[in-house]
Amino acid sequence: MDEATPPQLLTDGRTLVTHTTNNAGIPVESDEHSLTIGADGPILLQDHYLIEKMAQFNRERVPERVVHAKGSGAYGIFEVTNDVSQFTKAALFQPGARCEMLARFSTVAGEQGSPDSWRDPRGFALKFYTEHGNYDLVGNNTPIFFVRDPQKFQDFIRSQKRRPDNGLRDHDMQWDFWTLSPESAHMVTWLMGDRGIPRDYRHMNGYSSHTYLWVNGGGERFWVKYHLKTDQGIEFLTQAEADELAGQDPDAHRRDLFEAIDSGNAPSWTMNVQVMPFEDAPGYRFNPFDLTKVWPHGDYPLIEVGRMTLNQNPEDYFIHIEQAAFEPSSLVPGIGPSPDKMLLGRLFSYPDTHRYRIGPNYTQLPPNRPRSPLASYAKDGPMRYEPAATARPYAPNSYGGPEADVRSFGDPAGWAAAGEMVREAYTLHSEDDDWGQAGTMVRTVLDDAARERLVSNIAGHLKDGVSAPVLERAVQYWRSVDQDLGDRIAKQVDGG
Ligand code: NDP
Repeated sequence: MDEATPPQLLTDGRTLVTHTTNNAGIPVESDEHSLTIGADGPILLQDHYLIEKMAQFNRERVPERVVHAKGSGAYGIFEVTNDVSQFTKAALFQPGARCEMLARFSTVAGEQGSPDSWRDPRGFALKFYTEHGNYDLVGNNTPIFFVRDPQKFQDFIRSQKRRPDNGLRDHDMQWDFWTLSPESAHMVTWLMGDRGIPRDYRHMNGYSSHTYLWVNGGGERFWVKYHLKTDQGIEFLTQAEADELAGQDPDAHRRDLFEAIDSGNAPSWTMNVQVMPFEDAPGYRFNPFDLTKVWPHGDYPLIEVGRMTLNQNPEDYFIHIEQAAFEPSSLVPGIGPSPDKMLLGRLFSYPDTHRYRIGPNYTQLPPNRPRSPLASYAKDGPMRYEPAATARPYAPNSYGGPEADVRSFGDPAGWAAAGEMVREAYTLHSEDDDWGQAGTMVRTVLDDAARERLVSNIAGHLKDGVSAPVLERAVQYWRSVDQDLGDRIAKQVDGG
């Protein structure tokens, strides 16, 4: 330590040193030169600082997420603005409640270095630090998805990623999967439309996409879908604008979010829910748990819940955003899953991927650590650094170890289920089909200009490496969504 410049104390009590140390705090002899035998001689194995630098560098990356690899995020606040206590007892949604939160937005198929402006759905993952532990709402900027059974999820993602033989992404593979999976039509319509490339993360909505169960203080149950509407307004990029931006500033969306918050321009979203009485589900005209369907607003209007505001950038991107671990299985009392098969699959796959990607003690890291008291019986495992909650890590426990609070939290938020074990599609409801809601979007939601851009986006995508049989199926796919749309796409693909 240089005696002329006395060490200062950081606010967290650590000493600020101005001279380089290694990771063990030992002063290093040089930032520039390896230890050698003579100036021109071989490097010595006892240059432990050089070895530490090389070894640490080799391990700087954790495996990137297999989906949603490229992301951005920020901390913020969620405030309840309306009384929804008749629908849920969840503490974070009670009148007057406020809690800290973390949000991470992402593209889906692209890798860590991929451009932000690729046409892709966007992840919209939220973590609320509630008094009953972390509540994670892991949604997208779309209210729907490409498939409705987790059995097809891995296949779907592989069709959107890279081929094993040449390492290239391949439109033929994408359209092959989509056209053989007609349940994808609603989502592909969405993806190919204006909202398939948001201007940036601040100008897009978020949706739970899944249906969840809410339970109120009296034990009554409701099905809900969440809608987080951007207070900045919806804005999108045309295909041409997005292509140009991908070359000019591949990190444009990350930059936009960071700079907006940094300059005090905190973005916000208004959280709404659609609420379906529990008993409505079996007789509703659409299967309410099918992830490829929305609940039309006319049937279940939006009810305001609160507002989230993102006002704090992470001080270290890797610690707070790359290591952030969102999991739809983190449901707090008053909120439960639904029979949505995709959701039920994700309840397993998300914590499992975190255990693989970050390690089994990922919940101890700053973005994932609950901000409410912990009394878990978990112990040990790699990289654990917080002590176990109790010296006798088992239940039942006669040494004062924690006990489940059966009276307050004993009711599972669930539903009755019985029947034979089968491998079958969902039971169809009266208006269920794969094309109807996509057709409604094309005919009644889009205006002429948006429809024209949809045709041009689809035709442009199809003209890029799609084989003749797949192309033929694709035209038929779009005619099933809307005859006129399919005809116009066919004409543009043929060069008309
Ligand atoms: P509404 O007319 O009440 O709602 C249509 C909704 O479409 C709007 O509220 C808006 O959603 C969304 N929208 C507007 N422009 C676009 C676009 N370019 N791309 C995608 N979505 C857009 O009708 P319904 O509720 O009866 O739904 C009709 C169709 O609208 C559905 O079949 C579905 O395709 C689509 N839709 C429905 C949603 C729902 O939850 N009911 C949500 C989004 C789309 P927002 O207000 O969320 O911005």
